[in-house]
Amino acid sequence: MARLREEGAHLSERSESGGAEGRTPRIAAAVAAATLFAAVAAVLALTTPWNPLPGSVPGGRVEPDPALDFSPAEIARSRAFDSAVNPPAYAGLAAGLVLVFALGFTPLGARFIAWATARTRHRFLRIIVATVALTTLLRVAGLPFDIWSESVLRRYGLSTQTWPAWLVDQFKSLAVTWVICTIALLLLYAVVRRFPRYWWTGAAAGGFLLVVLVSFIYPIAVEPVFNKFHSLQQGPLRTDLLAMAERDGVPVEDVLVADASRRTTSLNAYVSGFGSTRRIVLYDTLLKSPPARVESIVAHELGHAKRDDVLYGTLVGALTIAGSMCLLYLLMTSPRLLRRAGVPSTGPREDRSGGAADPRSVALVLALVAAGTQLGAPVQNLVSRRIEARADAHALNLTRDPSTFVSMQHELSVRNISDLNPDGMEYLLWMTHPSGPDRIAMARTWARMRHVPEPPPLR
Ligand SMILES: [Zn+2]
Repeated sequence: MARLREEGAHLSERSESGGAEGRTPRIAAAVAAATLFAAVAAVLALTTPWNPLPGSVPGGRVEPDPALDFSPAEIARSRAFDSAVNPPAYAGLAAGLVLVFALGFTPLGARFIAWATARTRHRFLRIIVATVALTTLLRVAGLPFDIWSESVLRRYGLSTQTWPAWLVDQFKSLAVTWVICTIALLLLYAVVRRFPRYWWTGAAAGGFLLVVLVSFIYPIAVEPVFNKFHSLQQGPLRTDLLAMAERDGVPVEDVLVADASRRTTSLNAYVSGFGSTRRIVLYDTLLKSPPARVESIVAHELGHAKRDDVLYGTLVGALTIAGSMCLLYLLMTSPRLLRRAGVPSTGPREDRSGGAADPRSVALVLALVAAGTQLGAPVQNLVSRRIEARADAHALNLTRDPSTFVSMQHELSVRNISDLNPDGMEYLLWMTHPSGPDRIAMARTWARMRHVPEPPPLR
């Protein structure tokens, strides 16, 4: 208690100095934000594999054409599924943004927090209650759209879950959000309070470290919440996969299998973590595919591992968060924005941090994070699609088997009812990977370049 009072006195003493001094940290934060975002832009521009298959192509590059490999029935099914899943996806996105903006950019969120924390005295507890209440409200508001999406997946046989099991998943994912958001916001508000004028430096460094830490522990702390994992059982497939990894020069001690079939019939594999937590994971649904096709998938994942794509993505993400924290400081010290959000722009005792340290500003922080995430998504997807294409090129170079690659991509697209012809908006908002026909066309281009027989049309 004594410590708190002492800190308060200290803060009011500092606030006596003139307003011109308040401009210095703002200018410094603006310069830091601009520098960090310029660094991110430069790193992305210079390191993204814009052309994952460089070189001249005899006869020219192959253009994607779903009709070459997919039957009219498969194409019709993909279209029908697409028009069934798009409405809940777009409506859910729009509703979520409208709600989070309404809470953060009007006094609604501040009032909601004041109501939710009315009986909570301790500052830290108020931040926890505000975070948990707001994230829960947002998730509950999104639930009808998620139920709608899930019912479409069910109708198309993609989901194998019962509704109660599905609901448990929703709750687990909300709990993960609670933990991550609460820790992040507690740290943020602690820094804001401790360093009222220069909190952006601590927030940028802390944000950077937190992103790296979460990405590192994600495979061991979060993934087991949703799935059980076991080592791929001894046998020719495991031996082949590990031999391929060795041939590729990627140290892989184990290949894990996730019990994805308890949730879905779709096929997938991924690499997560880095350093000692890095792992290659196959969905158990994939194991029924012919071994050569599984090899084709694992060869793609080895491409990610070899290039350390997860670590690279984590560092770029961490740098982006650091820049965003400087930007957050500029926005959170804007009296106009605070007024709009219903947060008094000067805190108690003329606190220099202004309203930023007030737990009622949690809604504004969440709205700004949502806006930033949404604005960043198209860039993130664009870069991700190029990195995925590079992993495909790696798989083709490693297996030298474009025909199996084509049949695997065909199987993936059919089983997952992937969009065979995404429109511009879908590429912008959702597509982290090239479409099936894009990937198949690339395999044919690869075959032309390497003078290997071009995989014939599957139909
Ligand atoms: Zn990939």
